[in-house]
Amino acid sequence: AAADQGAPTIFDKIISKQIPANIIYEDESALAFRDINPQAPVHFLVIPKHRDGLTQLSKCNDSHEKVLGHLLVVASKVALQEGLNDGFRVVINDGVNGCQSVYHLHLHIVGGRQLTWPPG
Ligand code: 5GP
Repeated sequence: AAADQGAPTIFDKIISKQIPANIIYEDESALAFRDINPQAPVHFLVIPKHRDGLTQLSKCNDSHEKVLGHLLVVASKVALQEGLNDGFRVVINDGVNGCQSVYHLHLHIVGGRQLTWPPG
């Protein structure tokens, strides 16, 4: 939609259940599902169900504070639900240099093994 400042993405079809996804958490405003191409034993995404202009993090404004906070709380709750008690990583790939491929804001949560730092 025009107000969204971007074309629909595959995530809209996951939200509307038009295409299947392994959904591990859902509420009124957020959805968490397993990444189709996992980079670690546990790798899931947390997305806002109403994109509301958030094609990427750098499009956010003050009106997005509540949903952005909620996504982090969901990320933490689901990470513990997934058994990531020894730690995990939260990543947002933003824009071209960030290697973003789907322009619907999403948090990657990866864990289940020792991760390395810094990233490539
Ligand atoms: P980005 O590079 O934009 O940060 O990450 C997009 C992520 O979405 C990638 O890790 C990719 O594997 C995942 N992805 C893309 N299409 C689908 C899909 O149809 N289903 C699921 N579950 N994950 C997807």
